[in-house]
Amino acid sequence: MNDDTIMAETGIAERYRTVRERIEKACARARRDPADIQLVAVSKGHDPEHIREAMTCGVTVFGESKVQEARAKIPQCPEGLTWHLVGHLQTNKIKHAVPLFDVVHSVDSLKRLTALDDACDAYGRTLQIFVEVNVSGEKSKFGLKPEAASEVLEATLQCRRLELRGLMTMAPLASDPEKTRPYFRQLREWRDQWSRDLNIPMSDLSMGMTNDFEVAIEEGATYIRVGTALFGERG
Ligand SMILES: *Cc1c(COP(=O)(O)O)cnc(C)c1O
Repeated sequence: MNDDTIMAETGIAERYRTVRERIEKACARARRDPADIQLVAVSKGHDPEHIREAMTCGVTVFGESKVQEARAKIPQCPEGLTWHLVGHLQTNKIKHAVPLFDVVHSVDSLKRLTALDDACDAYGRTLQIFVEVNVSGEKSKFGLKPEAASEVLEATLQCRRLELRGLMTMAPLASDPEKTRPYFRQLREWRDQWSRDLNIPMSDLSMGMTNDFEVAIEEGATYIRVGTALFGERG
């Protein structure tokens, strides 16, 4: 199978163009600059061929959800890509995650924050992090309860190897994306409030996926995590 056949079959180029258009339209509505939105291409469930195909469209920032899958996949991908861990980080996976990723979106406890910082120190590398907040309160969701967030945010100031970018959340699944708006808006309001009250700068908000990233952009997202809209349904 040559490259043209792969393109025709999976259509990542076409889907990437559609995603960029959706980003531009949402930015126009919100009077924002599309250059301020970082698209993280979530490649979980897709193999390195699809990642290479996305690269030919100019995508260099990829997201994975499971450390185990990333350990197998990242070494098979070209170098020079930026890897984000978007899924839950288990304590026993931290030492494997540190050398693979550049950004972790899912810091959700004081214990894991400290363990991640220590592991980074051992590897002599620095990671950028988001603190994940469970805005909806759904039991099925990871993330800190809002009342537990300040303690973790303040502890980031003591970390030697972690740079806090901001907050991350996942909205509840909704067939109407408009229903996700209150969750995204709440995260932005907490970001503003906590950075002011704790005097901790947080420039970024990681929120929005295939079904709801336009609403997230309208509510201030600076990182959107998009899988299905780029790569198609996961197998
Ligand atoms: C899978 C996943 C995404 C991407 O989801 P899509 O709906 O396929 O865009 C984003 N964020 C996290 C945390 C995920 O696990």
